[in-house]
Amino acid sequence: MPKHRVISMDKDQSAKETHEAGADTGTAFSMFTHPEKTVPNIFRSKKPFLIAGPCSAESEEQVLETARALALIPGIIGMRAGCWKPRTRPNAFEGHGEKALGWLRMAAKETGLMVCTEVANAAHAEQALKAGIDMVWIGARSTVNPFSVQEISEALRGSSIPVMVKNPVNPDLSLWIGAVERLQNSGVSQIAAIHRGFSTYGKSQYRNAPEWAIPIEFRRQKPEIPLICDPSHIAGKRSLISHIAQKALDLDYAGLMIESHPEPDEALSDPRQQLKPEDLAILLKELHYSCSMDEKSGFREMLDLLRNKIDTLDRQLLETLAERMEVVSEIAAMKKQIGMSVLQMDRWSGIFETRTENGLQLGLSEDLIRRLIELVHLESIALQEKIIRGKS
Ligand code: PEP
Ligand code: MN
Repeated sequence: MPKHRVISMDKDQSAKETHEAGADTGTAFSMFTHPEKTVPNIFRSKKPFLIAGPCSAESEEQVLETARALALIPGIIGMRAGCWKPRTRPNAFEGHGEKALGWLRMAAKETGLMVCTEVANAAHAEQALKAGIDMVWIGARSTVNPFSVQEISEALRGSSIPVMVKNPVNPDLSLWIGAVERLQNSGVSQIAAIHRGFSTYGKSQYRNAPEWAIPIEFRRQKPEIPLICDPSHIAGKRSLISHIAQKALDLDYAGLMIESHPEPDEALSDPRQQLKPEDLAILLKELHYSCSMDEKSGFREMLDLLRNKIDTLDRQLLETLAERMEVVSEIAAMKKQIGMSVLQMDRWSGIFETRTENGLQLGLSEDLIRRLIELVHLESIALQEKIIRGKS
C-alpha cells in the first residue's frame, strides 16, 4: 500500500524515513483526522521542511520525471507543481487544470512525496481535495484578495489538508495575516506561510524584493505559523537562489520551497528561476543548516548571558534617549522665551559632523550613524515645534 512519508535529514544530510502517516486515502492523514485534538503542525515535522518541483505541471512525463529525480534528493518531503497558473499577461500557458492533478497523484503514489498545488478559487480547492492532493497553497495574487481567500477557506472547511499562504504581492503584513486568520476561522489547522517577496516598480536585482523585516514581523505576530521561504520567486534567476535560501535558514525559517524542472530553459513558465534537480541537490548540500540549541547545551548559558547584556544595553540606550529629549524640552522652552527659531542650520551641521566622526571612531558604520542622528534630530524638531507652537 503506498504511503506518504516524511523524510528526515541527518546532520550529514543523508535521508532516512522517520514517519509514515496514513494510507493512500487522498488528503486524509491518519494523524490529522481528529480536528478536536491538537495535532503538531506538519510543516514542523522535519526541519527544514523542503518542497521542490516545477513552476507548472506541463505533462504527465514532466511531472513523473521530476518527481523521480526529486525523491532521490535527501531531505525533500514535498513536490510542488502549479496546475492552474496565474499569468500576468493573457495567452501565456495557464496550466492543464484538473487533468494535471491526476499526474500529481501518480507522482505521489510512485515516489511517496507529498504533492501540492496552487488553488485560486473554491472550484480549484474542491478539485484538489477530490483528487487527493496532499497540500495546497494560496498564491500571492490571491492573498491580496480577501474574497478569494474567504471562498477558498470555506471550500476547505472540514478537510484536514495542510495549506500554505504566500505573502500578498504588495508589502502588506495585515493582508497576509488576515488570509491566515480566514483559514484558521474555517478550522484549517495545518497552516504555513510562504515568503515569496514583494512586487516593486522599477529596477531591482530581485524579481520580488525580500523585505526581510516583513516576514520577521509576521513571525513575531503569528509564532504558531511556520514560515517557509520561496527563494525562486524572490530571486527570479537561478544565480541568486542559494544566497536567499541561506539567508532564510540563517533566520531560522521552518522550510524552503524551490522550483525545479528537468529542462529549466524549456519550462512553460518561470524558465529563468528553475533549477535542474541535480543542481538543486548540490545547492541543498552546500547550504549551512543551523543546529538546534538543545544540541549545543554548553552555548545556551553563554548566549543567555550575552542576551542579558544586550537587554541592559538597550535599556541604557532608551534611558539616554529619554534624558536627551528632556534636555530638548528645556532648550525649546528657552527658544520660546527669546523667540528663536526651532532649527539653527549651523548647529545641526555641527551635530551631524561631530556625531559622524565620534561614531566612526567607535567603529560604527557611517550609514547607521547618519540614519540614527537624522531620526533623533527629526524627533527633537517635532518635540520643539510642539512646545513652541503648540503643534501635535
Ligand atoms: C508559483 O508558485 O508558481 C507562483 C505563481 O507563485 P506566486 O504566487 O508566489 O507568484
Ligand atoms: Mn513559478
